[in-house]
Amino acid sequence: MVALPLVGGCQCGRLRYAITQPPLMVYNCHCTNCQAIGGGAFSTPATVLEASFAFTQGEPRTFEWTSDAGNRRFGWFCGDCGNRIAHGQIPVAGFLSVRCGTLDDTSWVEPVGDIWTRSKQPWFPLSDDRLRCEQQPTDYAPFIERFRAQGRFPN
Ligand SMILES: [Zn+2]
Ligand SMILES: [Zn+2]
Repeated sequence: MVALPLVGGCQCGRLRYAITQPPLMVYNCHCTNCQAIGGGAFSTPATVLEASFAFTQGEPRTFEWTSDAGNRRFGWFCGDCGNRIAHGQIPVAGFLSVRCGTLDDTSWVEPVGDIWTRSKQPWFPLSDDRLRCEQQPTDYAPFIERFRAQGRFPN
């Protein structure tokens, strides 16, 4: 079992955060915004309850954009090193997407699916072991169910 809270921070260390409840799921997002934001092929966010997330050190700056699905999104980032920490919907829908690479301990992170596969880089292989969705899933229940089945956190 992974111990809570999950803790992490930005690359320079000015921002630190804690997550006090188990994430709902972890997946890979291949949307064009994630590719631009991270400068890579995809992002690997953990979906957490907004109420379970708090910055324990530093104040983030905020950037807003329109997602590939057409929703308004905001991102918290470090004003010093520019590292994105978490994203959410505008208005906030009760959930945040925390970028898993900012966690101190990423050993438990195992994506259960790939979304926005229609814009994924052709050289990245999809696995039959993961769920897949061409765009934004309309129902995340299978993702949540499969993440719970990994048994990393107490239910
Ligand atoms: Zn920083
Ligand atoms: Zn994305």
